[in-house]
Amino acid sequence: MIHPDTEVRRVDDVVGVGVFATAFIPRGTITWALDPLDQVFAPGSLDGLGPSWEAWLDHHTYRDREARRILCWDAARAMNHSCEPTCGGSDLGFEVALVDIAPGEQLTNDYGTLHLEPNEGFVCRCGAPGCRGVVAPDGSAWERGLPLLREALTYLTVVPQPLAPLVAPAVLRAGRRAVGLPGTERRRRPSL
Ligand SMILES: [Zn+2]
Repeated sequence: MIHPDTEVRRVDDVVGVGVFATAFIPRGTITWALDPLDQVFAPGSLDGLGPSWEAWLDHHTYRDREARRILCWDAARAMNHSCEPTCGGSDLGFEVALVDIAPGEQLTNDYGTLHLEPNEGFVCRCGAPGCRGVVAPDGSAWERGLPLLREALTYLTVVPQPLAPLVAPAVLRAGRRAVGLPGTERRRRPSL
């Protein structure tokens, strides 16, 4: 589920639509969480649907590290790529704001982290100062984004988290450990 302070807006005729913040979203905010209404397709289970469906699925789904196709049921599937994304972490089962996102700014992620297959690269027109020009299967994408993701995850417990009810504490702890942080500290039991 995408963060509630977002909406889908038209970008232009080339890009189509994108997801934009309607309020300030501070760094470390969970901007998306995999939820029970998202559809998860096993590798190969969507093969043979034909070119019309394949083009649609290429545009609206992403691939996780187990090569499953994820079809988000809500506006999350309209998130665009940026070479300097405002969000990241999808392999954790949730994404966070990597930077402070101002109202009117687009929520984006780096498709290079979404396990593209060799035929799924594309020419990028994201317009970021550091645009790579071409987005292609990229085994170093996770490592490249790790410093920003690690920094953002240090803010998990200090910013408002409207999507927190959708993410199990164990998933958050695993996410923090995956980027080299200690798991969220457990609250101490009050002494009797
Ligand atoms: Zn780019």
